[in-house]
Amino acid sequence: MAKRDYYEVLGVPRTASADEVKQAYRRLARQYHPDVAKENPKVAEEKFKELSEAYEVLANPESRHRYDLGGPSAVESDFGPGGFGWQNFTHVSDLEDLLGSNPIFQQLFGNLGGSFGGSPFGGGRRVSSSRGSDIEMSLRLPLLAAVTGTKPTVEIPREDPCGPCRGTGAKDGTAIEVCSECGGSGQVRRVQNRGYTQLITVGQCPRCRGTGRRILERCPVCDGTGRIRSSEKIELTVPPGMEDGAVLRVPGHGLAASGRGSPGDLYVQVVFDPLPHIRREGEDAYTETKVPLGVALLGGEVTVQTIEGHAVLKVPAGTQPETQFRLRGNGFPRFRGSTRGDLIVTAHVEVPRSLSGHEKDLLREALLPGGRPIGARRDSIFRRRSS
Ligand SMILES: [Zn+2]
Ligand SMILES: [Zn+2]
Repeated sequence: MAKRDYYEVLGVPRTASADEVKQAYRRLARQYHPDVAKENPKVAEEKFKELSEAYEVLANPESRHRYDLGGPSAVESDFGPGGFGWQNFTHVSDLEDLLGSNPIFQQLFGNLGGSFGGSPFGGGRRVSSSRGSDIEMSLRLPLLAAVTGTKPTVEIPREDPCGPCRGTGAKDGTAIEVCSECGGSGQVRRVQNRGYTQLITVGQCPRCRGTGRRILERCPVCDGTGRIRSSEKIELTVPPGMEDGAVLRVPGHGLAASGRGSPGDLYVQVVFDPLPHIRREGEDAYTETKVPLGVALLGGEVTVQTIEGHAVLKVPAGTQPETQFRLRGNGFPRFRGSTRGDLIVTAHVEVPRSLSGHEKDLLREALLPGGRPIGARRDSIFRRRSS
């Protein structure tokens, strides 16, 4: 089963104009409406794929020219070792107005995630069929970086088409032939007769393992994979005030497309390592501190932990338990702003669990109305403060 001529597939003469090619493709594509295709959707999809491959080559003047001169072998390296796949299709926009009316198109193009096992975001994200996959990664940073901002460097894997073999995996890009078993489709039909019924199954071609191609001699540069792995270092900019879990997008630094088409994007989710004593709520930070009873009663200073380290908090006399103090400008930066939120400190007044006899005497006199007389000692808290 040899590959059909692209002009024949589209039903246009070799002299057809670009517009005639496009109109023919649209007219034929419309026939793969679900009502028409529901008899055998798998076959319908294969036919639609054949149609789209023909259009992909003929819609581009450069590849059409090569095809006119050299036939199928002149363009097959455009599509990578597996032959034409939907990730190679760069003309979804020519069907845009038809997409809404046809669930098959939506299924094909709406879930398309690129060439490396789909988009890391699952099927929800609409991507152009020709794009490479996005890379998603997460990056841990100290919480202080949310205040100061930072420019971390990340290393991402790259996998680009091998240059010498043009991504085919075959030596020089030419030591390759169309699989004779499946004629390049990568699939074989098996017909089983069971009495009066015939069971037709379509499965992966065992000879080429679904690639549609047979490599005669492997490319020594990429060892037949068609891909070169490397890594790339990218400097990111984390602005002051970035939210925990926010995502930075670096356009064009995802994986390369397998055929023509632009690379995917890099998405980096930034996660700040929490500090045990700091809770972030928008631009404000919350912390807690212990205040000894004496400091709460008489006033004084305590050390509180901040995002940067420590600060001294003045505690006024008579501070009540669970009072909140606000250290202005010690919170997180307002995003892209020059000011910072506040650090809100909750004061836990520490009540001693045990007292000496002497302390008890002093407190009884000072704090209990009609408390027992305390004998020899006269230096009560009240007297000391009033003298
Ligand atoms: Zn095959
Ligand atoms: Zn190679």
